[in-house]
Parts: sequence; structure tokens; C-alpha cells
Amino acid sequence: MTSKAHKKFLREDCYIAGEWRGGAEKLAVTNPANGDTIGHVPDFGRKEAKEAITAAAKVFPEWRAKTADERSKFCRSFYEALMDNQDALGELLTLEQGKPLAEAKGEIAYGAAFFKWFAEEAVRVYGDVIPSPWADKRIVVTKEPVGVVCSITPWNFPNAMIARKAAAALAAGCPIICKPASQTPYSALAMGVIADEIGLPKGVFSVITGEAAPIGDEFCENPAVAKITFTGSTGVGKMLAAKAMSNMKRVSMELGGNAPLIIFDDADLDRAVEGAIACKFRNAGQTCVCANRILVQSGVYDAFAEKFAKRVKELKVGDGLESGVEQGPLIEEKAVEKVEQHISDAVSKGAKVAAGGDRHKLGGTFFEPTVLTGVTPEMVIAKDETFGPVAPLFKFDSEEEAIQMANDTEFGLASYFYTNDLGRAWRVMEALQYGMVAVNEGILSTPVAPFGGVKDSGVGREGSKYGLEDYINVKYGLFGGLGK
Ligand code: NAP
Repeated sequence: MTSKAHKKFLREDCYIAGEWRGGAEKLAVTNPANGDTIGHVPDFGRKEAKEAITAAAKVFPEWRAKTADERSKFCRSFYEALMDNQDALGELLTLEQGKPLAEAKGEIAYGAAFFKWFAEEAVRVYGDVIPSPWADKRIVVTKEPVGVVCSITPWNFPNAMIARKAAAALAAGCPIICKPASQTPYSALAMGVIADEIGLPKGVFSVITGEAAPIGDEFCENPAVAKITFTGSTGVGKMLAAKAMSNMKRVSMELGGNAPLIIFDDADLDRAVEGAIACKFRNAGQTCVCANRILVQSGVYDAFAEKFAKRVKELKVGDGLESGVEQGPLIEEKAVEKVEQHISDAVSKGAKVAAGGDRHKLGGTFFEPTVLTGVTPEMVIAKDETFGPVAPLFKFDSEEEAIQMANDTEFGLASYFYTNDLGRAWRVMEALQYGMVAVNEGILSTPVAPFGGVKDSGVGREGSKYGLEDYINVKYGLFGGLGK
């Protein structure tokens, strides 16, 4: 049941340069659980993007001149306001994105935690004094904010993907302009409400909605922009990175994944089943760190498949606002079609359906949590990110084979494995070509650790002390003529 709490945050205007601005052209936003229109947001373009950038550039000197302690307090206030309104913001997030309310509230807490973390990091941006090779000269390294940051984010985590960027940018001393995904603009605009309420100087935090390509072009081409930070698909990320780099802007790219989750013969199977459920079916399988391939050693393959399929069949599917629901709808019809294509390709090449396999009887974009057995590397699902609730089980015999299969992808974001052998834990951790490896755990995201990928999964890190460095330039200062 929807309460009215979220209404305060449901803004149908954009927050640009500290003002709420409506537009004549509108984009409709729908609830994926029932197709109802939630409301409309402005269909802005280059002109409004330029205005937001101009305001950010204007306020940049004032924002960077604040003491680290002052910026830290703003980040802390952002965190507190998000947490004070966790229920209302979670409800809004479920309405536009579809994930179960408990997960949506969890996302608000996760996003808020980045503001808390970077409030604490803002006051620890230390420079260096480097031993000089010259007796009469001294060398220092200072750190400075990169400048105006533009961010583009996806629909699967409408709050947290912005929070990971904005918290670090604000802490470092950078103004930021956010372009959320067209399916989920309200969680972003709600962050505009909070920025307004906590009194961030006008232009430090803007949110613009509208057509992606012209806004993205303005972000990449406007000389006042110093950095583009993007989370989304690898195809769009590569295109944006090329445009941004041709104008020599800093880039951070958090892109697609094809995460392996490996279960060795010596693993705790019950723990592996629970980890695989959390890893695969959270957000209906629509996360970049979801296990896309579950590799199981031959000695435990059948036992794991049986336990896992039994648990998957118990998952409750429904409208995320109903209590007890563990899997909501997929974001749109196109996403359901991709899931169907992956299943039918796998089945046509010999895979078997051990759970689910079809659209859910609720209709719309609901899909049954699915397990496929007998999946092999030549099937499409082995290479392509499914981004849906399908768990394909592959079989392997040796540790070397598992590592080879796991690394056989252009992606390198998250990876997981289950073993009780300490030596194997280290060996496999080192051998996996991924930015993140979780051993005996199915969930790894936290603001205190560096999130990010290698290979086609992108460049840069979010969260942790490393996440701040992506918003900072180092400056070398040489002081000469100091005497003998
Ligand atoms: P997407 O199509 O790349 O969209 C992401 C964002 O890019 C949206 O805001 C979209 O705007 C915008 N966009 C699309 N075309 C653009 C263009 N030509 N110029 C500028 N912006 C453009 O990705 P998605 O399908 O929504 O999201 C899923 C993908 O994100 C998956 O591959 C997933 O793995 C990845 N992801 C990665 C991470 C990570 O941290 N590595 C986290 C979450 C998701 P519109 O909505 O207006 O089109």
C-alpha cells in the first residue's frame, strides 16, 4: 500500500542552479508494477544543461573555497536528511523502479552512507612533502577539486548511483549536475529537494531531466566541464568516454558486468545457495554485480542445483509495495524480451529449466525467478549480461578450468566464489581478472571499499578513500631560491 509520505519528494520540475524549473515539453514516468503514470518531468535539452553548467562554474570558486569542515557538514546534513526520510524516499523509489520496498529503503540507506563516508573523508584530503633532490628547493604536492562534474546514471539504483558520485564530488569541492535515467527521475529530483533544504549554495547540486543524447553532448563538449562520471551500459559508456576524452575531460566509467559466481566442491553449500540467491535475484537480477554465470564444480553440481532451485521456487514475486515480496517487476518490456531470448537460446542448445522459465502469471513485466542447468559457454547467456532473474548453472571439473571460464569475458566488474580451502581462496582471488572479488559472500557493496571494474567494465573507483581521488587533481609546487 502506498502512503502519502513520498508526495513531498515527488517533484515534477527540475532543480537547476538552485531553482525549480518546469518545461513545456514533458516526459511521462510510469510504475513498472502496473503501468500507471506516476507523473511527468521536463524534457530538457542542451540549453538547460548549459545553464546548469554555467551556474556550477559560477559557484565553483565559492564552493572550493569553503573549508573541508564546512563541506563535510553539508555532506553530513545530506546523509541525515536522506535517513530522516528513508521511508518516503524508499516508497518513491519502489514506485518508479519496482524493487521491493525493503530493498528500496536499503538503497536509500546505502546511498546515504556515501554522504556519511565522504563527510568523514572530506577532512582527510592530505597533500605531501617530497624530499627534494636540491638543497635550496622544496617540493610539495597539494590537492585540488577537479572542477565542474557532470553525471549520468541508470535506473537500477536511482538513488545510490547518484549518491556515490555526488557525495565524493561535494566532499572534494566540486559542483555536480546529475542527469538521471528517464525511467527513474523522481529519486534524483528528491535529492534536489534535499540539496535545497540543507542550503547547498545555488548551482552546487543540479538535477536535469530530458533527452539523453543532447544533454550528454553538452556535458562532453562544454569547456566549463572538468569531468564526466557515468554509470550504465558499456556501449554508451565507451561513446561518452570517447567524446569526453576528445575534449580532454577526466572520466569515471562504471559499466556493465558478467559476474561469475564459482562454487567449489569444498564449499559450504547452504551458504553458497543463500549467497547465490542474494547475488542473483536482488533487484530482480538487474544489478551490474549480479551473478550472471554460476559455475559449479562437478562433485557438487547436482546437489547445489537441487537445493538452489528449491529455494528459487520459494521466492515471492509481486508489486514491491506489498509486504513479503522478494522480487518485483522488470523495468520494462524490452528487459523481459532479453530474458526470454537468453532462456530460449540456452534451451535450444540443450539447457534444462530447473525453476521458472516463463513470464509470471501476474502479467506485465513480472517474470518467474528462473534456474537453468546444463548451460555451456557457447550459449548467449555466457557472454551477454542478462540483467534479469535467470541463474544459469555451468559445470567445471578443475580449479584451472573454473578460472579460465570465469575470465573468459570482456567484462571485469564483480566476481564471487565459495571455498573452504584457504590456499585456494588466495590463489583464485589473485587469478580472477576483476575489480572486485568476494570469497564466501554474495553481496559486496559498501561505501568503505573501492567499487569499480577493469577491462570493459570501466575505469575509476567509487566509495572508499580511492573514490575521492577521482574528483581531485594533484598539483606539484616547487619552492626555489631558499638559500644555500
Ligand atoms: P544505459 O542505456 O547506458 O543508460 C544509462 C544512462 O545513460 C541513462 O541515464 C541514459 O539516459 C543515459 N544515456 C543513454 N544514451 C545516452 C547517450 N547517447 N548520451 C548520453 N547519455 C545516454 O544503461 P541502462 O541499460 O539504463 O543500465 C544498465 C547498465 O548499467 C547495465 O549494463 C549495468 O551493468 C550498468 N550498471 C553498471 C554499474 C556499475 O557501477 N558498474 C551500476 C549499475 C548499472 P536515458 O534513460 O534518458 O536514456
